[in-house]
Amino acid sequence: MRLPDKVALITGAGSGIGRETALLFAAEGARVVVVDVNDSAGEETVRMVRGQGGEATYTHADVSKATDCERMVRTAEETYGKLNVMFNNAGILHAADDDAITTSEEVWDLTMAVNLKGVFLGCKYGIPALRRAGGGSVINTASFVALLGAATPQVAYTASKGGVLALTRELAIVHARQNIRVNALCPGPLHTELLMKILDTEEKKQRRLVHIPMGRFGEAKEMAQAALYLASDESSFLTGATFSVDGGITAAYVTPL
Ligand code: NAD
Repeated sequence: MRLPDKVALITGAGSGIGRETALLFAAEGARVVVVDVNDSAGEETVRMVRGQGGEATYTHADVSKATDCERMVRTAEETYGKLNVMFNNAGILHAADDDAITTSEEVWDLTMAVNLKGVFLGCKYGIPALRRAGGGSVINTASFVALLGAATPQVAYTASKGGVLALTRELAIVHARQNIRVNALCPGPLHTELLMKILDTEEKKQRRLVHIPMGRFGEAKEMAQAALYLASDESSFLTGATFSVDGGITAAYVTPL
């Protein structure tokens, strides 16, 4: 067991990275608070965790709302007595997110509210709970697009993820002497609902695949493995890191034929 006696809260755990991480963390001994806006998906994750013999509870929260974030953290402490791992993972990629000229103010505001303010609020209420537990690990999901520009633009999403990286570094320093580590997970393009509903044709998929040295999309399970390392005591000297798990995309200049 790599997370014995840990309590972990995971936002966006009704799908993709969040769901796979809930399953893996529970299998490694953690008790998991599953958070989502999609209640049926979140409850299904809890059923899946319990089905494999793990312990989890679901609570509804929209991470862009302060009252919801305060409540989700309170639920963790009331249900399991403490919080050790805060995984701020929920995020959206709006279909109408484009370049600066085309993207509407509404799409910009919504994306920032969920992807960036959501991480801020998770930290605002999560970090005091970690301190009450004597320390802990915060994991914020950013993206490879925080590090690389693309000619297939999604400016609101990209800017929000850049903000997540900057926020992560600063909080890592502020809390470094309080036994609280704060790291950013930067996934490459993944085979999950979020990206696949945008890349809805073979041509669009190929346009991206050509830039990934490994020649394939990543899997949510592979991000869960990375999150497990960041959550566990194995990463005890790691804080403020940009942890890229991206099939080589950020290392590439020219990709293999
Ligand atoms: P996903 O769409 O499969 O899952 C996201 C989950 O977040 C969903 O269950 C959704 O209901 C939930 N959610 C959306 N808005 C919410 C809100 N306001 N409050 C609470 N929950 C909310 O996506 P995924 O691929 O698993 O993405 C997870 C994270 O990884 C996101 O932050 C995303 O930006 C990031 N990411 C994804 C990719 C990719 O290619 N899929 C690449 C890099 C980074």
